[in-house]
Amino acid sequence: MIYDIVFEPEPMLHRPSAPVDPATITGREMQKFIKDMVETMYVKDGVGLAAIQVGKSIQLCTIVKQFNELNPHEDLCLINPTWTKISRYKKWDEEGCLSVPGLYGKIQRYTKIKVTATNGKGKPIEFIAEDFFARIIQHEVDHLNGHLYIETAKDIHEAEKPKRTLS
Ligand code: ZN
Repeated sequence: MIYDIVFEPEPMLHRPSAPVDPATITGREMQKFIKDMVETMYVKDGVGLAAIQVGKSIQLCTIVKQFNELNPHEDLCLINPTWTKISRYKKWDEEGCLSVPGLYGKIQRYTKIKVTATNGKGKPIEFIAEDFFARIIQHEVDHLNGHLYIETAKDIHEAEKPKRTLS
């Protein structure tokens, strides 16, 4: 099932999502939701997607396998993800967001972070993410905390041609 994307200025996008009870992850309902999230992410052409962007206010996001540095053969699902910076180094790069269509802007992100989450199979995971992978995760976790990249981005502009959209 393909979900419709929730667009700015929907107030829901600005509220924190609720943590997921890990005991529900392997249940049929959550597994179906994860599958539909991944399908929606590909159809809408995002490299990541947060549950709040399809109207479900839970701390869950997905990332395409192309940028999943843990396993490039599998789309990544992060549940209740949190991160801490490992390096103080930040980098500016352009981002877009499926919930803010047609706009792009530059935002500064940490280049190396440690991520703690539960995966789509209900297993606790902890890993280091760098560069673009780290950028996607920071963008998605912002969504789960009720933030959009446009709150802090610079040089926000309309795109003349299609560009990479984070989520
Ligand atoms: Zn986004």
